[in-house]
Amino acid sequence: MSSRVTSSSGGVSGAAAPDTPPLELVTREVVRCGWCLSTPDYIEYHDLEWGRPVHGDVALFERITLEAFQSGLSWLAILRKRENFRAAFAGFDIDAVAQFDEGDVERLMNDAGIVRNRRKIDATITNAKAARDLRDSDGYGALDALIWSFAPDQSTRPPRPCDLSQLPSQTAESNALSKELKRNGFVFVGPITMYAAMQACGLVDDHVADCHLAS
Ligand SMILES: [Zn+2]
Repeated sequence: MSSRVTSSSGGVSGAAAPDTPPLELVTREVVRCGWCLSTPDYIEYHDLEWGRPVHGDVALFERITLEAFQSGLSWLAILRKRENFRAAFAGFDIDAVAQFDEGDVERLMNDAGIVRNRRKIDATITNAKAARDLRDSDGYGALDALIWSFAPDQSTRPPRPCDLSQLPSQTAESNALSKELKRNGFVFVGPITMYAAMQACGLVDDHVADCHLAS
């Protein structure tokens, strides 16, 4: 295949490197974690979001909620509904969701844009109340501080695996985070769900060894 670029911008200086491959070719040739290769949605999420540090109580409340909704489904299903979730759950405003009542639950159960699972909807309201209580007792940023206190020391991490199958589904830290959140009143925060959240929110960096984002 040719990697030669044809000028399409009027040849301002004529100095473009002749062997620079077209952008599309670069995109195809970049090596990524295997889990994201099935759709462009996943590739974009992998490249721009997954594993990058997420901070802030609202952002983390959203991530915990979406991971809980993901349980039993594909992440892709959740990702494609994410904007609908944001609209349905008041932008994941913790105080607003904590005040959701039975009428809101019925509204959400009739919202075809989200996952209509009453237990998960109830859990989201429960978790908003828990996040609100945590903030009221420990101040703004309390949920962020709690979650990030379970980030393992990256300097002692084992070598990156070459294959997704070698990644853990839960760890001692995800179990400890799960227990601490439950102790604070959170539900639907099991150790496997919490490990997925730790990966997504950058508490751990699980890009495989040959991924272009492995540092
Ligand atoms: Zn990767």
